[in-house]
Amino acid sequence: MECPRCRRGDTRVVDSRPADDGAAVRRRRACQPCGYRFTTFERAEAPALVVRKRSGERVPFQLEKVVRGVRAACKGRPVDDAGVAAIAAAVEAQLRGTPGELSTEQVGLAVLDQLKRCDHVAYLRFASVYKGFADASDFARELELLEGTGSSH
Ligand SMILES: [Zn+2]
Repeated sequence: MECPRCRRGDTRVVDSRPADDGAAVRRRRACQPCGYRFTTFERAEAPALVVRKRSGERVPFQLEKVVRGVRAACKGRPVDDAGVAAIAAAVEAQLRGTPGELSTEQVGLAVLDQLKRCDHVAYLRFASVYKGFADASDFARELELLEGTGSSH
């Protein structure tokens, strides 16, 4: 590994021990040419996102499902495939930033969050399915909330 000080590649590990309750390995490294010592941490890549369903069952997060839901909500709207993919990617990024276990509700809310920023009609469509709007007054209420955001849509 490259030395952060002199940028030469010649460092060696002088000490290696478990860290973070075994979730990581902490290594002390020493640079041969300049003598600089520094620490590195090695840990496994971020695990797959897991969603806990209402039944309690844990399932892997499926981006494809989000893409399908977003595409359905954006049908006939000026959002192309690239736009749909971007919305789905933003949903995943938002979920990765969420601490703790994910619920199906959080996934739905993340989709709503992202749709709200892109297309209000698509947002309302998704919301009507997701939130189970009972009648038109629910739409009116949501619409008022949207108008309140100050967007020009
Ligand atoms: Zn060095």
